[in-house]
Amino acid sequence: MRVLGYESSCDETGVALYDTEKGLLAHCLHTQMAMHAEYGGVVPELASRDHIRRVVPLTDACLKEAGLTLADVDAVAYTQGPGLGGALLVGAGFANALAFALGKPVVEVHHLEGHLLSPLLADERPEFPFLALLVSGGHSQIMAVRGVGNYEILGETLDDAAGEAFDKTAKLMGLDYPGGPRLSKLAEEGDATRFTLPRPMLHSDNLDMSFSGLKTAVLTLVRDVEAQEGGLKEQTRKDICRAFQDAIVDVLVAKCLKALKQTGFKQLVVAGGVGANRQLREALNSAAQRRKFKVFYPPLALCTDNGAMIAFAGALRLKYAHPVAGYTVKPRWDLASLPKA
Ligand code: ATP
Ligand code: MG
Ligand code: FE
Repeated sequence: MRVLGYESSCDETGVALYDTEKGLLAHCLHTQMAMHAEYGGVVPELASRDHIRRVVPLTDACLKEAGLTLADVDAVAYTQGPGLGGALLVGAGFANALAFALGKPVVEVHHLEGHLLSPLLADERPEFPFLALLVSGGHSQIMAVRGVGNYEILGETLDDAAGEAFDKTAKLMGLDYPGGPRLSKLAEEGDATRFTLPRPMLHSDNLDMSFSGLKTAVLTLVRDVEAQEGGLKEQTRKDICRAFQDAIVDVLVAKCLKALKQTGFKQLVVAGGVGANRQLREALNSAAQRRKFKVFYPPLALCTDNGAMIAFAGALRLKYAHPVAGYTVKPRWDLASLPKA
């Protein structure tokens, strides 16, 4: 079965074709980052309009890359939520219209399930059950994953998501949108010994996290240093980025270790955009060697939003595929409420 998947929950339009026998055949992506950069964040209405512009050319490009045509598509998958309502409606509307025209079934996909299962698209794959650290722009959760659709949330952020903390901190340090990856680049040239920031909830006896206080701590530090230095020197900026990244990585690694101990699982899966962070990967990889567990990541290009993870999750949920009969989107949607596949 070949599943054509659509992602449009935020500021990336993704289209991909996944074959249940042969694996991923093609995936095409357009990111709107440059368009939103001018405004310092995603503008929902602009996002929706751009998805409309991109969805047809990306579909053509994806089929061309796979060397196939619409006649070769057996089902259409799309992100039903969570995400921006208008942006989701574009993908949902297009996917349903296409499936209806082709006389093929549709299957709704939960965006976070897409992220969560994306490590199964890598060469080295985990087997169920595993622990998952889902760290994206909108979510930070630690989950026990016992199968497709069998998710137990063990801990989560009480305020900002890890990616959100990266982006907001980057913004207050004067970095352009999207700040997370930029901040992380600067951190690599920073001096780890110069500043120390708090590690919120590091020693709490649960698996919850909190990152908004860290952002405030950076703001205070930036103000103090600016007053002393009469502005933020380039190296100082790098040093603060490093201190921030050290704090966030420390907390994420500590929570994963605690969760591995609690569950007894020997495999950890890291998914979501922050999973692209090099320092986080290095810290988890070295912890894995010390503590004798295995860490799995999605292919680097599939850490942030993409159509491949949606086509793939749709393929794993084909038993829920159904003929087109109207559609809705779910801007808010609890992952733990999904049925088992
Ligand atoms: P969600 O999936 O929760 O709805 P989202 O789709 O916006 O949110 P993703 O696309 O998974 O999130 O990830 C984007 C986030 O990842 C952004 O916050 C971005 O700053 C962060 N990010 C991407 N690369 C890096 C990196 N190298 N280091 C730190 N953060 C990063
Ligand atoms: Mg995005
Ligand atoms: Fe996402």
